[in-house]
Amino acid sequence: MIEKGGEYGAEYLFRVVRDRMHAAHPQLQPYLALFGCSDEVTGEADSARSSVFAGYGGIFTTRIIGSLIFYQQIQVATSRGHRSNVFEVNVHIGEVEENGRRIYGALVGRDGQKRSTCGALAHVLEDFRANPDEVLSISKMTDGEKHLDFLGMIKFRLKPHVDQILRAANPVLAITRKNLEVQTHDLIQHLQKTLTKDPDLAPFFVYGTITYNRTMQPDTESLEHFHILEGGDPKDLLSLL
Ligand SMILES: [Zn+2]
Repeated sequence: MIEKGGEYGAEYLFRVVRDRMHAAHPQLQPYLALFGCSDEVTGEADSARSSVFAGYGGIFTTRIIGSLIFYQQIQVATSRGHRSNVFEVNVHIGEVEENGRRIYGALVGRDGQKRSTCGALAHVLEDFRANPDEVLSISKMTDGEKHLDFLGMIKFRLKPHVDQILRAANPVLAITRKNLEVQTHDLIQHLQKTLTKDPDLAPFFVYGTITYNRTMQPDTESLEHFHILEGGDPKDLLSLL
């Protein structure tokens, strides 16, 4: 079995998740919808996901910086033709070893350049530190056109937790875990609304993972959240972890 927060190989972790869902619902044909981050580039976990889940119905994939969740993606993922019933939120964090210590939040690329990983969350953390009084907005005007501001959206969702993040022993790890928690919570709320409207779609399964990206060593994966939704009511939400 898997412990919350423990690090495992991705394929092992996804198989344990799949087997646990089958134990709860033996008839389940899992159809995975993945909500990941755009700058997760190693792709190691993707091949493990494919080997465990792609044999059923394929994998519905959305990648937006900071693994942001929006209702529209969920509507498409759960509608006729897709019928996703398993939902993964994945966030990622770089890990490098320096003088025997684990340093989180960066990776050294093949070009030898060190870059922030996750880049989006590094931006948000930097702005929270440097500009604590920033007035947040989820849209902005660029060259006379209005655009959704994805970084603004991440800040907006994390703002209530900013003190907790900045005071943590390791703010990079803290913002990563908190972002996963917040996005997973949003996803569950949207899925509850979907199930209230259409109870026949139950059960849904939701799990949240962190990928630890490394340059020289293989990536690892941790399971931080794992729920079954038997219906749209909050009492129908059960933790499997
Ligand atoms: Zn990222």
